[in-house]
Amino acid sequence: MIDRKLMDDLPISRGLRGRCPRCGEGRLFRGYLSLRSACEHCGLDYGFADAGDGPAVFVILIGGFIVVFAALITEVAYQPPYWVHAALWLPLILIVTLAPLRLIKGLLIALQYHHRAAEGRLERRGDS
Ligand SMILES: [Zn+2]
Repeated sequence: MIDRKLMDDLPISRGLRGRCPRCGEGRLFRGYLSLRSACEHCGLDYGFADAGDGPAVFVILIGGFIVVFAALITEVAYQPPYWVHAALWLPLILIVTLAPLRLIKGLLIALQYHHRAAEGRLERRGDS
C-alpha cells in the first residue's frame, strides 16, 4: 500500500490538486486559471510559473482525440443526422477541454518548479 503522505508530497499530486509546488499546502490558483502572486502558506513567489501554451496543447491533443474518435465511431456505426452530431459533440468538447485545463496547468507548473525549468538564456564563456 502506498503511503498517503508520500503521494501528497509528489509534485504531480501537488500540481493536480492545485497546491503550492514547494509546500503542498497553499493554493496555486486565484480563479479558475489565474495564479496567485505567492503561496499563502510558505510565501513562494509564483513569478517563475509560466506554463505558456502547454496546457492548451495537451487539452487540444487529448480532447481532440476523444471527440473525433467518438464522432467517427458514431458516424460509422449509426449514421445519425448532423444535428445529433452537433448535440453530442459540442457539449462534449466543452467538457473535455475545460475540465482538465486547470489540472494540466497545475501539473505543468508543479513540474516546472520541481525540475527548475526556466526560459533559456545565453551565457558568455567564463560565466558560471
Ligand atoms: Zn507554499
